[in-house]
Amino acid sequence: MQLTVLGSGTSVPVPDRFPAGYLVEHDQHKVMVDCGPGTLRRLIQASVTPAQLDAVLLTHYHTDHCADVAALLFALRSPHLSNRPPLTIYGAPGLERLLEKLTEAWPWLSPKDYELRLCEVTPGTFDAHGFEVTAIPIRHTAQSLGYRLRAGSGLVALSGDADTCDELVDLARDADVFVCDSAAPDDLKIEGHLTPGLAGGYAERAGARELVLTHFYPECDGHDLVAEARAKFGGKITLAEDLLRIPVGAQ
Ligand SMILES: [Zn+2]
Ligand SMILES: [Zn+2]
Repeated sequence: MQLTVLGSGTSVPVPDRFPAGYLVEHDQHKVMVDCGPGTLRRLIQASVTPAQLDAVLLTHYHTDHCADVAALLFALRSPHLSNRPPLTIYGAPGLERLLEKLTEAWPWLSPKDYELRLCEVTPGTFDAHGFEVTAIPIRHTAQSLGYRLRAGSGLVALSGDADTCDELVDLARDADVFVCDSAAPDDLKIEGHLTPGLAGGYAERAGARELVLTHFYPECDGHDLVAEARAKFGGKITLAEDLLRIPVGAQ
């Protein structure tokens, strides 16, 4: 399994970090977790076209995590990308309403020459596109979900945006790679988000092997985020950057 960071940034535009998006690949299967604005471009830069995506899993509906869903649906109507297999979008209840409202505003988002499947997810485990996916409620918005994706010998956990909650330990338990919100340094914590020290604490409690810090607001600039996480976590620590590829499990 391989993880590619498509966006390590936030809603605040900066030159080198797009908002949230991750590509998870195993064999021929390709799913995106979150689809923030600009991440479709990063997908192409990672040598994957939107026509190759099996699915998009959304952690929550803040725009920095899902705005490129509209761009994706419009792109898939293009003759360049049409006649593709079905695309499935997963997300918490509210997904169908969101897509209905988007399509009401932009009728040209409705699928043409392919099938769009919407799957509202409640906490629990399901099989999807070669992965065993477990959705776990995370404290951020009322229905935010974190996802564990297992395939072969690999297990990756992605927190989405997260504030302090014990569910993060279940989410990251024994994960090869734990991708965790680390929006601001320890002494500048932002409501609704974690810090490197908090992320490190959850990674340690969960027994994760590698912690990938991500979702960096500009407050992070100039701070030693690795040192802050290292104070709490003994495993490998990686700072996300756009287009960084991270192997998950035995290769
Ligand atoms: Zn966010
Ligand atoms: Zn958010």
